[in-house]
Amino acid sequence: AKSKGKDGVEFHTPDMDITVAREVELHVELRKALDAGRFELFYQPQTDLRTGALAGVEALVRWNDPVKGYVPPSEFIRAAEESGLIERLGEWTIEEACRQTVRWKRLGLPPVRMSVNLSARQFRGEDLYRNVRSIVRETGADPRQLLLEITESVSMQDVPRTIRIMNELRGEGIRFAIDDFGTGYSSLQYLRSFPVRHLKIDRSFVTDLLRAGGSEPIVKSILDMAGHMGLDVVAEGVETEEQCRKLRQLGCGEAQGFWYSRPLPEAEATAFLCKLKGD
Ligand code: C2E
Ligand code: CA
Ligand code: CA
Ligand code: CA
Repeated sequence: AKSKGKDGVEFHTPDMDITVAREVELHVELRKALDAGRFELFYQPQTDLRTGALAGVEALVRWNDPVKGYVPPSEFIRAAEESGLIERLGEWTIEEACRQTVRWKRLGLPPVRMSVNLSARQFRGEDLYRNVRSIVRETGADPRQLLLEITESVSMQDVPRTIRIMNELRGEGIRFAIDDFGTGYSSLQYLRSFPVRHLKIDRSFVTDLLRAGGSEPIVKSILDMAGHMGLDVVAEGVETEEQCRKLRQLGCGEAQGFWYSRPLPEAEATAFLCKLKGD
């Protein structure tokens, strides 16, 4: 195990071998968990700030470990990316999200927009388009309900290629959102060339929105630009009524966050949707 020190000199310590051993162990555990069907999707509602209606849900993966309980993605997504397992996990996620839209449809619920996170690595494999297309066909999901979230780092990797894959998927009726907007490096020019309809303002800007000298000017300019470009905006990490009021006042279209709801396991998300419908 080697790593670059502060001054760029390579060094090696026994501690790092322990870290590497743990990582390898994690990769093995993740693979087993995937084989054993131990991943679940939680669903977090997104609210239309103008009408208060449900705008959609975002699918967020959880690892349901018999000992550790629900493990959040912050503890395994990176390992899944590094080991290449993210391609299988990512496909499972899209498939499960599609199946969920079909289950909700069978319950007589109105079609709900379903956001799914994609990793950069999933764009690297040659098969993203064909895999997603066959998942949609096999599950019988309506691709127009799918909204795939990509981060700015994804879109920056190989721009023409990313755009080509996105356009292929768009041909199937699938839409795209830029996630964590404002935290990456992508220029406005790039944003203009990507076939996206939605932007998600990163939680850090929402957190800092009401502080004097905080992020309000940034949020304003994102909303202004999005308005001119015809993009829908979702603010993430909305935790207070004040943030919600401010965002509405600034003209933000949608909000997602603990103020409305935490991410919910399937049964609770279903109950939430049934209640909205008035069942
Ligand atoms: P993200 O896509 O930015 O998802 C939003 C995260 O913020 C979620 O964390 C959600 O639980 C959390 N969150 C939502 N509202 C609030 C709030 O009001 N306050 C605070 N403090 N947090 C809030 P989660 O579920 O732990 O997911 C973390 C990240 O893991 C996601 O960030 C996403 O990048 C990644 N992730 C989750 N599911 C998937 C997946 O299926 N595939 C891939 N590739 N990545 C995923
Ligand atoms: Ca997301
Ligand atoms: Ca996000
Ligand atoms: Ca994030």
